[in-house]
Amino acid sequence: MQNPASPLPVIIAGAGPAGSSLALALAQQDIPVILLEKELSLPIDLRASTFHPPSLEMLSGLGVTDAMLAKGLKVDRYQYRDRKTGEVAEFDMSLIAKDTDFPFRLQLEQYELTHIIGERLPAYPHVKVKMGHRFVSYEQNAQGVVVTAEHQGQPVVLRGSFLIGCDGASSQVRKAASIGYEGFTYDEKFLVVSTPFPFEEVFENLSYVNYVSDPDEWCVILRTDKIWRVLWPTDPTCETPEQYLEEDYVQARLQHLYPKDTPYEIGHRTLYNVHQRVAAQYVKDRVVLVGDAAHINNPLGGMGMNGGLHDAFNLADKLIRIYQQGEDYGPLFATYERQRKDLAVEFVQSHTIANKKLMEATDEAVQKQRQQSFMQTAADPVKAREFILERAMFTCLRDSLAN
Ligand SMILES: Cc1cc2nc3c(=O)[nH]c(=O)nc-3n(C[C@H](O)[C@H](O)[C@H](O)COP(=O)(O)OP(=O)(O)OC[C@H]3O[C@@H](n4cnc5c(N)ncnc54)[C@H](O)[C@@H]3O)c2cc1C
Repeated sequence: MQNPASPLPVIIAGAGPAGSSLALALAQQDIPVILLEKELSLPIDLRASTFHPPSLEMLSGLGVTDAMLAKGLKVDRYQYRDRKTGEVAEFDMSLIAKDTDFPFRLQLEQYELTHIIGERLPAYPHVKVKMGHRFVSYEQNAQGVVVTAEHQGQPVVLRGSFLIGCDGASSQVRKAASIGYEGFTYDEKFLVVSTPFPFEEVFENLSYVNYVSDPDEWCVILRTDKIWRVLWPTDPTCETPEQYLEEDYVQARLQHLYPKDTPYEIGHRTLYNVHQRVAAQYVKDRVVLVGDAAHINNPLGGMGMNGGLHDAFNLADKLIRIYQQGEDYGPLFATYERQRKDLAVEFVQSHTIANKKLMEATDEAVQKQRQQSFMQTAADPVKAREFILERAMFTCLRDSLAN
């Protein structure tokens, strides 16, 4: 395969966490980039809010973690709680203080990262950020890719060396490359509600990240820098799921979580479909998929966005070698696919599916065994350290890079 003969830009579709981070990583190495974003301004929506330590390590190489730390909430312990018995298994992240400069989860809305990066990209003259440009289609040949985007109803044709699909779960890049997105969608939707109510004052010793099991109603309670968020599953047999967004329903669920005399102040509510899917291929010659365009999973454990960031940094390393050392892209992209698809995604898919099964178990004996297992692990510093490293995605990253 030929390396790019001239410094054509890398064309990235999508300025979410994956596309923005990749663009900045390449920009800082003087690699020309065109970043296409279909929205006119960077979205502000409540989605992922947990940055695991390896992601923070990678982002620190871009010089953005100081700004993130200034905005986010450092969470150095997280809990698995059994609502029926009141038992709490707490994992203390200081156990990994010798393993990382970031022995905590940073709770920060993902849009804060894209906005921090969005403010920095204009400083690089070789980077063109094209807002309001929707990727539509591409052709590729031995010299590179020819991409068609749509801007204000008009086609815009752009030439690049490679096309990187960072355009999310409904990726048009993936569709244009005729790559399947295999897996399944859960029957139930997840409801996420945010509230400024101070749960930390009413639940004893509550951490800022809590996985709460209950045979009747499991939930996740976590705090970002600004607000508490509660996530619940909904009834998969319900034919009118819109009702879950109605005020009375949301109030009733919050009152069930913690009864109080006055209604809850509600900041935000979202109902969304939950999928477990992986693209059949991550690479099609000069086209590469990254982030949700390549894989999607349930949010239990906060591995979706973090996995996408790990893809972006893995691919950035390879693109830098292609541009700066003239290495052949074929073997490097094949390595990317092996490291990120075959190894890392297998871990994320199996862990997130298992996390959900454990949370939703209705059998009290299973619940009890789960809680006992967490408590025994948390009480043993050696096992707890291994557990924390695994859940923070260090272990799967190490294993994937060894191959
Ligand atoms: C409602 C919701 C809640 C979530 N909650 C959690 C959570 O609690 N924890 C967790 O870990 N993960 C969560 N996720 C998943 C997490 O948000 C994603 O894993 C993460 O956003 C993936 O980043 P990305 O950059 O790959 O894609 P995205 O963040 O989806 O970014 C894609 C970007 O591409 C743009 N785009 C799309 N199509 C085009 C096109 N044709 N041309 C140009 N631009 C395009 C979009 O506008 C967007 O800016 C949630 C997702 C959703 C939808």
